[in-house]
Amino acid sequence: MAKEVDLIKEKLPVLDFIRGYIPLTPAGRNFKGLCPFHPEKTPSFIVSPDKQRWHCFGCAEGGDIITFVMKYENLEFPEALRFLAERAGVQLRALNPQHEREFGVLYDINEEAKNFYVSELYKNTAAYEYIKSRGLNDETLKEFEIGFSPGGEALTLHLIKKGFDVNDATRAGLIYKNSRGLYRDRFEGRIMFPIYNHVGKPVAFTGRVFGAHATEDVPKYVNSPETSVFNKSRVLYGLHKSKLEISRERTVVVVEGQMDFLMAWQCGVRNAVAVSGTGFTEFHLEKLRRIADTVIGSFDNDDAGRKAMERMLDMLNRYDFHVSVISFGEFKDPAEALQKDPTYMKRVIEKAVPAFEFMFERYFNSEKVRKDLALKDRVVNHMLNLMSRLKNPATRNHWVEKLSFASGISMTALDEKLSDILSTASDAKKSSASNSEITKEQFEESRVDMIAKRLVSLSFTNDKLKDMILTNKEYMPQGFVNAIEHPEAESVEMLQMQSSYLFGSTDEKTLQGEYLELIKQLKLEHLKRVQDATRDIIRAAERIGNDEKYDEAMKKMNEISKQMNDLKQ
Ligand SMILES: [Zn+2]
Repeated sequence: MAKEVDLIKEKLPVLDFIRGYIPLTPAGRNFKGLCPFHPEKTPSFIVSPDKQRWHCFGCAEGGDIITFVMKYENLEFPEALRFLAERAGVQLRALNPQHEREFGVLYDINEEAKNFYVSELYKNTAAYEYIKSRGLNDETLKEFEIGFSPGGEALTLHLIKKGFDVNDATRAGLIYKNSRGLYRDRFEGRIMFPIYNHVGKPVAFTGRVFGAHATEDVPKYVNSPETSVFNKSRVLYGLHKSKLEISRERTVVVVEGQMDFLMAWQCGVRNAVAVSGTGFTEFHLEKLRRIADTVIGSFDNDDAGRKAMERMLDMLNRYDFHVSVISFGEFKDPAEALQKDPTYMKRVIEKAVPAFEFMFERYFNSEKVRKDLALKDRVVNHMLNLMSRLKNPATRNHWVEKLSFASGISMTALDEKLSDILSTASDAKKSSASNSEITKEQFEESRVDMIAKRLVSLSFTNDKLKDMILTNKEYMPQGFVNAIEHPEAESVEMLQMQSSYLFGSTDEKTLQGEYLELIKQLKLEHLKRVQDATRDIIRAAERIGNDEKYDEAMKKMNEISKQMNDLKQ
């Protein structure tokens, strides 16, 4: 198989092949064009003939010729391979039956089960009436292929009749062997919501009980277990339908459950996703950040809702999202609100307020907070803590200013508190790896890393610049120096393509200007770090009353300030 893949790639060079789909123009050593996978006006889609790969710097999709076909033609791996083999005139003697068995059959089973559940919905009056009574119309039921699981062994027998192996159906998570060794349907008497992967294939289900089945001792919602085609931390319900609208508006509306999503969709809100159960994972946020910069969340108007909002805010801030809040007032959830008034959500979204503003209102309008100084102090500290995690300094500053206004505490006092929080936080980060899943290094990419990365890209444009950049290597993290010195390394592939994307059609003079600016920024970052360290020395000297050390450090501080000013000019 590997041999056949190689043969296909040899016969179908990636450049010629992709050119058959979209126009490409030269950009440095590579080629660029408008990305077919996200709407854009300036090209960020790069094809590298050397590496036989493509990558889009707008939506961060990328891969080889096979992944291109999978995405463009909406095919799974074996199908894409078959498609390409035909084009290349390559015989696929053994199209990995193992692979076909492992994955292909799971897609087929989920697809067949979905069709079965859909047809059952229209046979079961109680189920159909229940779902209609929740407000979904026939069009939505059809579009999202909502079904009904009668349970017992109905699906099991259906799948066997269709020629599937019970073992495969068990692997797909749709049937199980009971204690007496009999195969039974996993879902019984539930409304079935198919969960789709990014290309829109059903890979799992959520089943919701209703009516007589809805007793105390059964869970309201049951999901398919994870399988080799379903990883629940990677799938966001509804995204396969809403991603285009999300990227068009750069805004995503986050709702809790499938019903909320479906009602919102039906009422014309086409840029939503449902986090159903898992909450946001890193993978979700990374994926969404590529297509959106604003998240609108809805939260209950009580303490629990406020806490949930603050948790989400904290997480989203680290990805540099703008966060706005909507509230459904007296309604329990969006689904309920929309059932009463289909225009409700659109109106509420128009009135979304930034999360911090929402909090100011909640906290500072309270008589208790205004009167109790200690309480007010705690509230202000709490908010500064949240703000300290904002990734963008300009945004952070904006909100500290607003906080000053809302609380009546001076900017100077708030700034001082904030810098204390920031330095404690960076100390804590240095001394121990954080246990939160979001504060992983990769998401805390420092400014130095960002600058160094750009310099690496710049170094690939020509050798003269490369040599000039290397004369400043003392300021750069070693990993980036290695990348410049070994451009052939596998790990540098992405930066090579980024180079074409960023500088592919840039003239020499602009490149020089870019170089000077980046080196300046790099040196400034270096000086800032020295400045921080010196400031610590000054504080310590003050504390213990060591005048000599104090004077010395102050002198150094002045020198650094002068150097920084010189650089800035
Ligand atoms: Zn793209």
